[in-house]
Amino acid sequence: MTIQTSHKALMILPDLKDKVALITGAGSGIGRATAVLLARQGMKVCLADLKDERLEETKQEIASAGGQAITVDIDVSDPGRVAQAFEQVAKTWGQLDMVFANAGINGVLAPIEDMEPEDWDRTLSVNLKGTFLCVKHAIPNMRENGGSIVITSSINGSRAFSNFGMSAYSSSKAGQVAFAKMAALELAQYRIRVNVICPGSIKTNIGENTQPTPELEKIKIPVKYPEGSQPLEHAPGQPEQVAHLVAFLASDASSHITGTELFIDGAESLL
Ligand code: ADP
Repeated sequence: MTIQTSHKALMILPDLKDKVALITGAGSGIGRATAVLLARQGMKVCLADLKDERLEETKQEIASAGGQAITVDIDVSDPGRVAQAFEQVAKTWGQLDMVFANAGINGVLAPIEDMEPEDWDRTLSVNLKGTFLCVKHAIPNMRENGGSIVITSSINGSRAFSNFGMSAYSSSKAGQVAFAKMAALELAQYRIRVNVICPGSIKTNIGENTQPTPELEKIKIPVKYPEGSQPLEHAPGQPEQVAHLVAFLASDASSHITGTELFIDGAESLL
């Protein structure tokens, strides 16, 4: 264990030396902050994301801190590309200890009656099918020695918020929670742990891939609390705060935790 200061708290971080992780959505936000933290703790990390210069920036940040990283550009909804990413890790390091299935989109925001089926499919495809594909390909790589899989869902997966038009997004996030529980049960025999994290509002770029439609105006509901308001800090959380939770779940310090849904939201979901 090493002790580091970050934000206002004193963090005790687990040693992840000589372990290997594959992280999707590593080009930005929660994925990037987690990749940087895991690499700082000694993990070798495969950074997977859509082809974008941000992926290379994450790699540079890790390299300049003395960490080890490779990049692979994938669309997580593409079965062939996901399979290739896992093959790349096996070829490079010959082991896999952790998968962070974190890539995600808000997708198109529209009232249900105006939601186009193909927009619904795209959101489900990236968020839910992408998660399934990552877990599917993790299994042959982890079956022998066990491992930890962490899935990024959201507080939107378990309750409805007044952020409008998010029926597809919320459904995909709820699906991830159910999938994680099934996977935890099915994979316990291999000592593969599967946990799902549910962040509240976090300061990331996810809004960039949101496509609000004009029809959203039709379903405006009065908002009781400002969006992203969190009782604990009165502000959205930081990606680095989520990264610390993922580091714990990646490590042997959480060896008895599986099938759990962990909220990291400053009590936002209790409002
Ligand atoms: P957050 O960290 O809050 O989830 P971000 O938008 O900052 O939000 O990060 C999501 C990441 O997921 C981005 O780096 C984005 O490029 C990635 N991503 C989105 N769609 C896909 C996809 N189909 N395949 C792989 N990565 C994706």
